[in-house]
Amino acid sequence: MNNKFFAKKLIKWYEYHHRDLPWRQTRDPYYIWLSEIILQQTRVAQGLPYYERFVNTYPTVFDLANASEQEVIRLWQGLGYYSRARNLHQTAKYIVQELNGVFPPNYAGLLRLKGIGPYTAAAIASFAYDEPVAVVDGNVYRVLARVFGIDTDITGGEGQRQFAKLAAELISQEQPATYNQAIMEFGAVQCTPSAPDCLLCPVQQECLAFATGRIHLLPVKIKKTKVRERFFNYFVIVQNGRVAMRQRTAKDIWQQLYDFYLIESDAPVESADEFSDNQPLKSIFLQTIITPPKRIFTHILSHQRIQAQFWVLEAAPETTLHLPPELTFLTEDEIENVPKPVLVTSYWKEHNF
Ligand code: SF4
Repeated sequence: MNNKFFAKKLIKWYEYHHRDLPWRQTRDPYYIWLSEIILQQTRVAQGLPYYERFVNTYPTVFDLANASEQEVIRLWQGLGYYSRARNLHQTAKYIVQELNGVFPPNYAGLLRLKGIGPYTAAAIASFAYDEPVAVVDGNVYRVLARVFGIDTDITGGEGQRQFAKLAAELISQEQPATYNQAIMEFGAVQCTPSAPDCLLCPVQQECLAFATGRIHLLPVKIKKTKVRERFFNYFVIVQNGRVAMRQRTAKDIWQQLYDFYLIESDAPVESADEFSDNQPLKSIFLQTIITPPKRIFTHILSHQRIQAQFWVLEAAPETTLHLPPELTFLTEDEIENVPKPVLVTSYWKEHNF
């Protein structure tokens, strides 16, 4: 298909069918950047309230840079992939401290910022500055693979180079911002993964996947994500209405978020007795009343499935407990205000101490 023809059809489709989203009303790189980082691995409906909250709380990059990391993570709570929030904050600080609050004015400069990869740099450069650099995200892979009948694996280097080259050839030089918005929106709304609306599709006649009955075979993704099973055994130590929590600092999921004393096991554990050799739990077990878990909480992340159980260890007010050094007793209000993984929040909502 002629490149100009493809771009023209998509742009025309976009004019009539696009959703009105707040980040499409702006050319400010700060707002575009916020929306792109929030929307990575997140559906628009879920990301929209977060975008509005961030824009209202931090209307400028200076406001975001001046916030504490804990406040930023608290506002991010529930979106997952918390390294995105930390990178967002660090990059805001870098832009304020090193670049006087001004975003780099082109793709190459944006790409040098932490947390900004080729996709985000292309999105900001085209939406904010009209630079003709093509975005390639999951939607774009799907649309291009189907329309052009490409069955190269999109998870491999060869496929990624092939699609990037094609995307660069197709982008409209006159309307790069609208074209990029259009192809992503087309993938999100019209050429969806499992129910593409082929009957009312403006490129149906040119679409090779449609012509050859390969719609559900394209794009090809060979690598299957391996899901890691994890078993979390939480010990919720309670005394005087306060609960012992710690901030997660290890290089793992949920860095900087708060949870309880945790022992991870290779398989589900049935009784707290299995931890009777654990120091310092050993002495705490002797000083507390143990309430076993009522149920297992399951939490699914992109590469991990976590099954968590919570044992409550309640100590009498006068008992002197020797807590592990990373734990601190927090009041109920403090717990409400610290950033927590969704798993911990779900548990917390079901329990009152
Ligand atoms: S015809 Fe169907 S598969 Fe092809 S681009 Fe249109 S919606 Fe996608």
